[in-house]
Amino acid sequence: MQDITSKTLIEVRDLLAKGELTAEQAVQSCLDSIDATEPKINALLHVARDTALATAKAMDQAGYDPEKPLWGVPVIIKDALTTKDMPTTCGSRILENFNPPFDATAVDKLRQAGAIVIAKANMDEFAMGSSTENSAYKTTSNPWDLSRVPGGSSGGSGACVSAGQCFGALGTDTGGSIRLPASFCGCVGIKPTYGRVSRYGLVAYGSSLDQIGPMARSVEDVALMLQAISGHDPKDSTSADTPVPDFVAAAQAGSLEGLRIGLPEEYWNNADHKGGIDSEVLDACRAAITAAEKLGATTVPVSLPHTKYAIAAYYIIAMAEASSNLARFDGVRYGFRDKDASTLLEMYRSSRTKGFGDEVKRRIIIGTYVLSSGYYDAYYRKAAQVRRLIRDDFQKAYEQCDVIAGPSCPTTAFPVGQMTADPLQMYLMDIFTISLNLAGLPGMSLPVGLGADSNMPVGLQLFGPAFGEEQLLRTAASLEKEIGVLGKPNGLVG
Ligand code: GLN
Repeated sequence: MQDITSKTLIEVRDLLAKGELTAEQAVQSCLDSIDATEPKINALLHVARDTALATAKAMDQAGYDPEKPLWGVPVIIKDALTTKDMPTTCGSRILENFNPPFDATAVDKLRQAGAIVIAKANMDEFAMGSSTENSAYKTTSNPWDLSRVPGGSSGGSGACVSAGQCFGALGTDTGGSIRLPASFCGCVGIKPTYGRVSRYGLVAYGSSLDQIGPMARSVEDVALMLQAISGHDPKDSTSADTPVPDFVAAAQAGSLEGLRIGLPEEYWNNADHKGGIDSEVLDACRAAITAAEKLGATTVPVSLPHTKYAIAAYYIIAMAEASSNLARFDGVRYGFRDKDASTLLEMYRSSRTKGFGDEVKRRIIIGTYVLSSGYYDAYYRKAAQVRRLIRDDFQKAYEQCDVIAGPSCPTTAFPVGQMTADPLQMYLMDIFTISLNLAGLPGMSLPVGLGADSNMPVGLQLFGPAFGEEQLLRTAASLEKEIGVLGKPNGLVG
């Protein structure tokens, strides 16, 4: 059987449509790839081997369905999204053995479109982290260099896509968790506008920030997946009742002629960011902007002056929301319960003590503190005001440009263990991604090559105005045509 695992989702979809590949063969290829790569990268928390093969066989028997744009395509889902036929742990012990009775809307929509869910991907516990090292279960390695992290919190999703375990994955992004692992693992990832994709069935972290989005090997791939999962959902009161444009057509009709790309000084100036931006990251991103200029785009200097307050504001708001959202894990309703406790109070306390990891506890404590009376005005209200200023910065910038570009992260993937002892250092990794979540806007990370020093993937981040995903996809697809799709990861060779 041909090795299809380095193909893009669109290429595989076309083979399936032409009958040159069966759904069963597609699933089997991915399962073989999981067998070969999983011992090295540890990207997955659950593999649905039998159900995926059975689904594929049944689909082959029923025959190809042209109404289903993802017919027979194997995909992997971040374990923060509920799946009715497999466990959902959210990377936490407190949800060990939790089998939800329903699919998240985004998962359901993928299945409706014909995709086959083959596995659940590892993640930082409750999506809190930037490296996937906060998972209660395992540490995922970056397929480009096994000694480095895949980014987080959707690190399992990034690693499984770049390692060829599937053709597309869903991640979630509260402060950069799709764009950071996409950047570190050399794949494309898009965080849609807040409200574009229903959050129903997503285990909540920061409800006003969380969005679900696709990660895959090419821009057209993520466009196709985004098309499938977008749209209004009465089960999520924050999902937007706006029409879903043809994202695939947008990605195919790529042209940069006349496009104005805003370059925020705060994202491109080495000195502006505490700790600095690695020069290999700046060089690769600058080369991509030069390529865009050659294709007819112009660049405009813009400013997002409140960027320096984004980390502080984000971590106050995200932790406040998390402290409230995670109150539901009490040992009664879901997952883990400490059976040795003799009173109700002791059961709550010890189930939460044993069920949550250190980072989650830290955030519940800080979140509760910033919401408590006496501190609410000083912290939470201030952060909410800063959030508004950050949104206004973007609005002003979009008066001068159509899209904004900058690095996805100040560095390429860092070594496993380098930042685990210093959470504040880890929080700084999100400097370029979190403003977008605070503003509720769409953004994506596009691989633009390997860093000259680390030889690891570099991601260029593109930001768009609210519901401007088409423009983002068009821009990214044109650049991708010029720059090319990254090849197989170094770390898995040999
Ligand atoms: N690294 C950020 C955090 O830990 C973002 C995580 C995310 O987007 N889920 O909160």
